[in-house]
Order: sequence, then C-alpha cells, then structure tokens
Amino acid sequence: MQPSRPVETDIVLLGAGHAHVEVLRRFAMRPEPGVRLTLIGREPETPYSGMLPGLIRGDYTHQEAHIDLAPLAAMANARLILAEAVAFDPNERTVTLPGRPDIAFDLLSIDVGGVPIVPGGSEAGIGVKPIGLFLDRLQHLEAALPAGVRVAVVGGGPGGVELALALAERFAGRLRLVLVSATAEPLSISPAAARRAVRQALVDASVELVSGVSAIELRDGRLLLSDGSYVEVATALWATGVQGPAFLAASGVACDPIGCIRVTHDLRSVSHPHIFAAGDCASVEGDPRPKAGVWAVRAGAPLAENLRRAAKGWALKPWKPQRNGLAILGLGRGRAVAWRNGIAVQGRRLWWLKDRIDRRWMRMYTEMRMEPDPDAPMRCGGCGAKVSAEVLAGALATLPRGESPDLLTTLDDAAVLKPPLGKLLVQSVDHFRAFLDDPFVFGQIAAAHALSDLYAMGAEPWTALAIASVPYASSQKMRAELSAMLQGATEILRADGCALIGGHSAEASETALGFSVTGLVDSGRILRKGGLQPGDQLILTKPLGTGIVLAGHMRGNARARWLMAAIDSMRTTNAAAARIAMAHRPRAGTDVTGFGLAGHLVEMLEASGAAAVLRLAAIPALPGARALAAHGIESTLAPDNRRVLGDAPDTALLVDPQTSGGLLLGLPAQRAAGCLQALVEGGLNAAIIGEVEAAQEGAGRIRLE
Ligand SMILES: Cc1cc2nc3c(=O)[nH]c(=O)nc-3n(C[C@H](O)[C@H](O)[C@H](O)COP(=O)(O)OP(=O)(O)OC[C@H]3O[C@@H](n4cnc5c(N)ncnc54)[C@H](O)[C@@H]3O)c2cc1C
Repeated sequence: MQPSRPVETDIVLLGAGHAHVEVLRRFAMRPEPGVRLTLIGREPETPYSGMLPGLIRGDYTHQEAHIDLAPLAAMANARLILAEAVAFDPNERTVTLPGRPDIAFDLLSIDVGGVPIVPGGSEAGIGVKPIGLFLDRLQHLEAALPAGVRVAVVGGGPGGVELALALAERFAGRLRLVLVSATAEPLSISPAAARRAVRQALVDASVELVSGVSAIELRDGRLLLSDGSYVEVATALWATGVQGPAFLAASGVACDPIGCIRVTHDLRSVSHPHIFAAGDCASVEGDPRPKAGVWAVRAGAPLAENLRRAAKGWALKPWKPQRNGLAILGLGRGRAVAWRNGIAVQGRRLWWLKDRIDRRWMRMYTEMRMEPDPDAPMRCGGCGAKVSAEVLAGALATLPRGESPDLLTTLDDAAVLKPPLGKLLVQSVDHFRAFLDDPFVFGQIAAAHALSDLYAMGAEPWTALAIASVPYASSQKMRAELSAMLQGATEILRADGCALIGGHSAEASETALGFSVTGLVDSGRILRKGGLQPGDQLILTKPLGTGIVLAGHMRGNARARWLMAAIDSMRTTNAAAARIAMAHRPRAGTDVTGFGLAGHLVEMLEASGAAAVLRLAAIPALPGARALAAHGIESTLAPDNRRVLGDAPDTALLVDPQTSGGLLLGLPAQRAAGCLQALVEGGLNAAIIGEVEAAQEGAGRIRLE
C-alpha cells in the first residue's frame, strides 16, 4: 500500500473570480503535495468580464462567455462547493455557508468581486453586478418595458460606456438610451483620440449623453442629477464604482474605506497573514488601481505562487504589475478602440484582435484536458484503523440530537431497541467510497442511497448505523471531514424519521461512508420484486444518468449545472415516491441502483416469470447524461451491466449504475395512470417507461422499442 500524502494545508478559494480561475489552472498544471484546494463559488459558471458587452449584444453565447467551474475544479483536484459565503472568521479560520457546516481553512484567498455603489435603496434600478443576476433582470426588463421608453446607464467609465453601446445594439431602436457620466467626458482617463472615438460611437448608436453631472437617485421615473435637474427614465442601470461586499469588513480583516481588503504587494492581508485577496475586492496598499477585470486576471499568477509559498512557509514574492497595459474597448458594430502610453487607434481590426485575445483567454480554462497519471499511487482499501476517540467525539458533538422512543440505550457498546408491536423489521446495508469531494453533500447522498432499499420494500425507515472512514490527516481535519459527512447524512436521515443510533469510524486511504439501516413495515404491505403480470405498466420515479454524469465529472467533462442536477436527484430520498406509490398499491417494486435500470428490471422479471418492453424515448434522463453518453462516457460498471441486454444498441442509460436512483414499480394499467399523475403532481420527474409482457421461450427478458 502506498498511502498518498495526508492533507497538511487547506487552502480555501472564496469566490470564483478571475484571479481564482488562474490559481486553479496553475494548481491543475502543478499540484502541490499536502495541499487541498476548496473552491467556494456562488454560481456554477463564472463570467469573463471582457466578453460581457459582447454577451449582452449577442456576439457570444452564455457558454462562450462563462467558465464552467466543475471541469476546472476537477482538473485542479479542488473540492467544489456551490454556495454563497455569508461570513468568515479570520481567527477561527472558518467560512460560513448557510444551511451547512462551516468550511475550515488554513489559508483563505478571497476573490469575490465588488458590489455596485447604487444610491437610493429599493428604487435604485438595476445594479450591473452580480453579472449573472443582471442578465436575468435585463431579459425581464426587455419583456416588461413598452417600446420607446428611455433607460439610463449611469457611469462614464469603460464599463458604463461599453454597457451603453452594447445595450443600444441589443435594444435596436425599441428602447432609448441615455448615458450619464460624472466626468465632463466619458472615459476621461483615456487619450483624446479614444474619447473622440467613444463620442462618435455614442452618436452613431443614438445614445444620448449627459455629462459633467452625477446621478443621485432614481425616484418616480426620474433620475435626479447633482445639478438639480433630472432625466425621465423607465429605469437606470448602474455601472458606477464598486465597493467590497459588507461581509468582508464585518469579519474584522483590515479594509479600505469602501470595504475592500487591504493587501500588501504580495496580495496578503495587512492584518491577517493567512488571508489573501485579489481582484475588485482587494486594495493593494500604495498602488491603487481601477476596479477592472484586467487587474484581477493579472493577479492570478502571483496569487497562485504566493499561496503555494505560504503553504510551505516560504517567503512571498511581491507582485509587480505592468503600469500601462494595452486597453481595448469594444465600440459595437464590429469595431473597437485601443490605447497605450497615450496613443489611441480604432477600427475593425482591433475588434478582431480583442475577440481573439478574449477567446484565447477563455480557452485556457475551458479546453484543459485531464491526462491519466501513470505514476498515480495505486488505490488501496481495507487498511482502516479506528479514528481516535477525540476525533470521533468531536465530530459527534456537532450532530443534532434526535429522540427515538424505541431506543433504550446508545451509550453502551451497542444500541438496544424495542421494535414496535406487530411490525416487521426490514434491514439493508450500503457502503461506498466518496465519489464527490464535498463531504457534506456526499454524506447526504450516502444516506439517501441507503434508505432507498427500505422504501423499495414499502418500509418506513427507523434506525441507521454508520460506517465511516476518513483519510489520515491532523485530528482537526479528520474531525472536520467526519463531522461534515455525518451532518449531511443526519440531515437526510432525520428528515425521513430515521435515527442514527451508532456506528464505526476508521482512518483509511480515502473517504467512505455507509449505513446499515433498519425499517418497519406491516406484513401485508411488503413490496417485493416478483408478482408482475403481463399488461402491468412500469413506472420509474427518477431520471437516469447519475453514473454517466459522475464519470463525466471525474474526467472533467461534466458541466457544473449537470453535476448540480445529478446531486439534487441523488440527495432526494425515495420517501415521497414510496408514499405516493404505496397509496396506488403497486404489484411489485425495486430501487434502481448499481445494476442499472436493465439489471434491476431483469431481477423483477425473473422473479415474476415475465418479460417486458421498454420505450427508450419515454425514459427520463438527467441533464447532460445523453450528451455525455453520446461521447462514449460511461461508468466502469456499465460494460458488465450491459450483458443483460445482449448487443442491443443505444443502451447507455439503461445500463448506467445509479447512485440513489429512483423506484421502479409495476402496476396494473388501471392504477398506473393515476399513480403517475400523483407522482408528477408531487414534483417527481417520473414516467411510464414500458409494459410487462408474457415471457417467450428463447427470447430475452427485455425488448426495446
Ligand atoms: C458591463 C461591464 C463590462 C466590463 N468590461 C470590462 C472589460 O472589458 N475589461 C475589464 O478589465 N473589466 C471590465 N469590467 C469590470 C470587471 O467586470 C470587474 O472588474 C471584474 O469582474 C472583477 O473581477 P473579480 O475577479 O474581482 O470579481 P468577479 O469577476 O466579480 O468574480 C467574483 C466571483 O465571486 C463570486 N462571489 C461573489 N460573492 C460571493 C460569495 N459571497 N460567496 C461565493 N462566491 C461569491 C461571484 O459569483 C463571481 O463568480 C466590466 C464590468 C461591467 C459591469
């Protein structure tokens, strides 16, 4: 056995801004032994600011202008947690996320961007950040506003100018635009030739210009200006300055007057040496820079280097950014203006150049491929040793206490239970290695998966025993991992009325979790695999494809949105499906797990002495599962599962092993439609996928249509 190096330093990257995507790319190219990266991102995809005006105009698709975080994180071997951080504690070294355990860090790097400075509270119009939200609001705005009304863009900097020009092209005469600039001329810090080009572009795009006055407030359809006048507008889009999100200053870390983290030239906080910051939310001492994506991008490489150095306890390197980079600003209609060192030029070739530069930048993050590592340590198992009592006690102390009236004791060597009179006990066990690097979510899924066997038998969950292992690390890290995993699991178990009454935990080469679960059922209500009759309709209660999406994720090919949909499906237990289905008295049932739909259906058909036809077009699939399968991506178990279907084509979904899959039920035709309707009304993506037929001598069990 070759144990991989234990985690020594947890680096948490808070916010998937421009600097952090570069940190991930650099760690993907050169992993740092002993360092574990965790990326906390609010959205599954992060936009590239340079392409935003083009996205608004329609030059780029959403996908072309966004970096998908799942493949990038997979490439960097970083844990990806999609959640919005609401606070962090620099002394306790934790980040707070709503509805789940805190994330512990040794080093924290913050690149969360800024929030727009918008005056006037609720009537403030629309802030341009966060950009994802802005694009959604823009769509609603276009649908809601009557043609011909006027919309203001406030802000005469590069962001405001590009936004106004992009919107003018997008609205194409349907809405009128006015640009309000506090300086006498927009883009005041650029050379005269660039300002002239911008003025002409605004005229060509019919954008009205109000300059030399600041917008103060939007009230009753009037944008009030600093000289006492106003402009009548339907709404205002604010591309004024940005400030730091409030939670940064609230943490106690030293911030500048607009709430951005004060850092030295090595991007390290002036007050807390284990905290780093870059991009719009950082303020480099003695070197103020405009809040622009270009500086966030350039900070990426030195930030990666200094995080590496800080993890090893080495001296940091100062960042020396170029003072005068080339600035290119899109003017719309296929033109751009560029300037450097006081000289400006404009034309179509410059737009072509900007487009090339931006697309090349995006390719660095979207076209990375994972190469198998021939020197990767061999996988090992069975080398577990019990985790220390201190680690276990610490983790258990974080779990909510549950009450079970039938539980006589759990404090002894084993739990003692008193089964309710007249009930039968139903028992099952499941256990697997972590296939996701977020221990909280993995705990949720492991619990939902374990309960599934009980629901498949028509039973109600009662108690669970956990079997958990975590990789060797410091006591604190093992406790945090175990605690997050068990908190995720107990959340699911408790919601379904199942008490966690004990367990066993061990150190191992990798994280794993399983449960031995016990359920209760009345003897007349047990659901079995056998008993199907010709004519029975087959209902599946969840879409297929978890194995394909997870395989895609492990290869860095799954989009974050696909992964999120698969996670949501896996952590949803079959409680609702079972409750609704049992009310319609299914004739037989099972849950779809490792052998895939086809394998589990064959088990039912063999137990019933029947055959079945499956209608491929009716089988629900998770987002991305069919697209990944079309590229040949499948789980390692799929080829074995395929045997039950012989050489039938187009079977990827049918043989895909499911983690926490849905229920497969057989009902007489007269009850099936009602059952399906109730399942769909209950919010489940269920479908009738086929029908039971009489078995034919010499024919296979499953026919595909
Ligand atoms: C219309 C427009 C056009 C622009 N054009 C240009 C341009 O052409 N060139 C240029 O240089 N600049 C441009 N800018 C400015 C540019 O967008 C910003 O300066 C740049 O995005 C800052 O990058 P960043 O990495 O600091 O943060 P961001 O790009 O804002 O990234 C922050 C990330 O952190 C995430 N996040 C935020 N809060 C949390 C939280 N609490 N928890 C978890 N995640 C969180 C966000 O979802 C986001 O993914 C433009 C701005 C606008 C509005």
